[in-house]
Amino acid sequence: MTAALETTKSVDLGPAVELVSKEEGHRQPLAPEFVSAEDFSPLEVAYDFGRVRREDIEAGPRNIWRYKRLLPVPSNVEEIPNTEPGCTRLVRADRLAKALGVKRIWVKDDTGNPTHSFKDRVVAVALAAAREFGFDTLACPSTGNLANAVAAAAARAGWQSVVLIPSSLERAKILTTAVYDGALIAVDGNYDDVNRLATQLAAEHETWAFVNVNVRPYYSEGSKTLAFEVAEQLGWRLPEQIVVPIASGSQLTKVDKGFRELGQLGLVDESPYKVFGAQATGCSPVSAAFRNGHDVVQPVKPDTIARSLAIGNPADGPYVLDTVNRTGGAIEDVSDEEVVEGIRLLARTEGIFTETAGGVTVATAKKLIETGRLDPDAETVLLITGDGLKTLDAVEGKIGPKATVPPSADAVNEVLGR
Ligand SMILES: *Cc1c(COP(=O)(O)O)cnc(C)c1O
Repeated sequence: MTAALETTKSVDLGPAVELVSKEEGHRQPLAPEFVSAEDFSPLEVAYDFGRVRREDIEAGPRNIWRYKRLLPVPSNVEEIPNTEPGCTRLVRADRLAKALGVKRIWVKDDTGNPTHSFKDRVVAVALAAAREFGFDTLACPSTGNLANAVAAAAARAGWQSVVLIPSSLERAKILTTAVYDGALIAVDGNYDDVNRLATQLAAEHETWAFVNVNVRPYYSEGSKTLAFEVAEQLGWRLPEQIVVPIASGSQLTKVDKGFRELGQLGLVDESPYKVFGAQATGCSPVSAAFRNGHDVVQPVKPDTIARSLAIGNPADGPYVLDTVNRTGGAIEDVSDEEVVEGIRLLARTEGIFTETAGGVTVATAKKLIETGRLDPDAETVLLITGDGLKTLDAVEGKIGPKATVPPSADAVNEVLGR
């Protein structure tokens, strides 16, 4: 039928064996498909892991491919050009913990990835799988970070890229995508319009791998590497609480899946943990559903400075609610002013400059602590998923030099009162 589909018989996606529908568990062969034709629910990768040992992982490369035995990627994935993200630092954040009045916080600092957000993880896995399926173009609809990651990964692989963004996107995110010289298209519309357009184009162009559309089952598995790294960096154990920002909700559900797989494989003790979700009030459909006790998510029109999280109709919303409820966590949302305060608090206490999404996570954690839903005595991990340099407009005009002075020591001393 198509070049892309003809090759699916011989794919090597490591431990991945099948796709399974999330609702009713219908099974089908590995293919670049994302919805079950049987029950119309999202498709997820099913595995035959066999025995996976900590030693095998620890002997692997210092990037996400150390977890290749737990991902839908070829067995020789580390030999194929890709962006090699991952193994970002897990920072013990004692000064932030003190400011928030809790015992122990860890910050998973994913600003350290090749294009400075966690999206490099999911795109690297999507590219590895898409190559096996015979695609030649990497594409996406994006709220910004995904655009960077797709354009960079395609450049490194020598592929074409087609990146669709809302035309209102932050200037920095436009420039940091355009520099990789793929086809960047600004669309007059919001992210949900751009996403619909991508679904249509994916059906028309069968050699285009839309990372978060037609190869979404593979892409989303990349988020598990955040959970794997946190557990390994804690000395092969799970934290008690974790706070995760929500856009489509994929990352949150996959962090949970990653923790569960580690437990099932005996790589960590199956200790209980709670998953908490963070949204900006200006785009908080999942938080609203949680608050009202609903199990479906009512779409909204986003209006927030946290544009990387501004998905009004989140594909994995219901599964986020399942995960949070099952683990005993909670979901909360914060105003744009609180987001900026969150950015500044993390910078002031830990020297980490995060983008608005990280501000959402920090501010939500603060609110959850103040309202008694995050246990101050339990160990908590905050996922800081993107870099502040991409959203400078969020802090523009709110911070700056204390004074502008002539080049004189007296002038400096006077300003500082020393
Ligand atoms: C995309 C994104 C997320 C969340 O992604 P999901 O769609 O929920 O998986 C979180 N933080 C940043 C910075 C992002 O770009």
